[in-house]
Amino acid sequence: MPLSLYDTMAREKRVFEPADPYRVTMYVCGPTVYNYAHIGNARAAVVFDLLYRVLRRRYGDAHVVYARNVTDIDDKIIKAAQETGEPIAAITKKFAQIYRDDMAALGALPPSLEPAATDHIAPMIAMIEGLVENGAAYAAEGHVLFAVDRFEDYGKLSGADRDEMIAGARVEVAPYKKNPADFVLWKPSKDGEPGWDSPWGRGRPGWHLECSVMIESEFGNTVDIHGGGQDLRFPHHENEIAQSACAHDGAPLARYWVHNGFLRMGSDKMSKSLGNVVLAHDLLKDWPGEVIRWALLSAHYRQPLEWSEDLLKQSRRQLDRFYRLLEEIPFSDETGAAPESVVLALEDDLNTPEAYAGLHELRDIASQMEGEARANAIARLRAAGRLMGFLNVAPDEWFKGEAADGPTAEEIEALLAERAAARKAKDFARADAIRDDLAAKGIVIEDGPDGATWRRA
Ligand code: AMP
Ligand code: ZN
Repeated sequence: MPLSLYDTMAREKRVFEPADPYRVTMYVCGPTVYNYAHIGNARAAVVFDLLYRVLRRRYGDAHVVYARNVTDIDDKIIKAAQETGEPIAAITKKFAQIYRDDMAALGALPPSLEPAATDHIAPMIAMIEGLVENGAAYAAEGHVLFAVDRFEDYGKLSGADRDEMIAGARVEVAPYKKNPADFVLWKPSKDGEPGWDSPWGRGRPGWHLECSVMIESEFGNTVDIHGGGQDLRFPHHENEIAQSACAHDGAPLARYWVHNGFLRMGSDKMSKSLGNVVLAHDLLKDWPGEVIRWALLSAHYRQPLEWSEDLLKQSRRQLDRFYRLLEEIPFSDETGAAPESVVLALEDDLNTPEAYAGLHELRDIASQMEGEARANAIARLRAAGRLMGFLNVAPDEWFKGEAADGPTAEEIEALLAERAAARKAKDFARADAIRDDLAAKGIVIEDGPDGATWRRA
């Protein structure tokens, strides 16, 4: 069965065929690094991590190149530096690393490439010069603008929504623009703002240009898959398409456009501007990364995902059921193959609800089997987990992991130590009270020859 992906440009599911199966290329618009990522941002990172894993399974780990860029120059970063007094480079370095660590904690593999915008200033200036030369861009008052009416297909990606999107994006009207929809490729930097010398004076690149140039630098004119959240279709991706096509004699920027849907809080999109964000960094203090990942992949990636504490609790319970089985064979070999039901579901436009159904079915089958058949089914479950980024924790660690509403491992260990001391002092009333207290919180204590061990019930 082929791998198929919904292509936003074609507005339909298409069979995925890379230009070169020995070098499958994917570019995903990454974070602007000036603060913590919220869980909606994390949805994009986790969805494209899953696609990366599915591509690697199909084409081989060495034949898939995944680039996720770092936007490390931006007005929001400059503002953060002014507000905190910290140098820009310190802010971007710190938050780029926090982003990497948090996404890794959600099971996202490190991308093959993480190009940073500020490492690509020279090729950015070169691309702008080319666009000015061929008439697609014009310089005005220290700015360089892309003239959208010089690109016939402008608006094709966002299509019928375009006018609505233009209204929603509140395209900036400025005296130096020939057409209000024209967008900035280069803009002047004031004193005290970061900037680079250019033919148009000291300034800095526009955000849209950064991605076009990083794709060119890493992959050439065209990438197989370009991804991002659906809010990026307009204006960001529309503008990337226009710049790149005009800089490359009409060559398309991407062969497939893949966009994930929004994560929502109540009826609103989670976003910094609405102030309804939950940070991935904070959630990771209370929940295992796999629980958050399970929740993020529980809806199909193109559907909206309703975020709630309940979703996390359910996800925890479902993963617990898999880990109960894994507990039987804690050190399995890694030779099992992922079951076809799971692979087929994922290769059908990343149908994760269907893949989850496949995992549950396999768990039911495994639990009805015995001996070698049971062990084999568990090995296949582990393989499916490896493919999707789950079941990587040692089962005893998993059940010791911090439950959101129970005592922490540290608290439990401290109480167990106190109980051991009470028993030694023959204060059995205190020892029993501790045991009962923990039992009431769902912690089972087992006394053995080497002292007491514990697990969550
Ligand atoms: P930003 O930091 O806003 O540029 O977003 C980084 C990535 O997260 C982009 O791919 C966005 O499309 C995506 N994104 C932002 N908010 C959400 C959300 N609520 N749900 C899903 N994806 C989002
Ligand atoms: Zn981009």
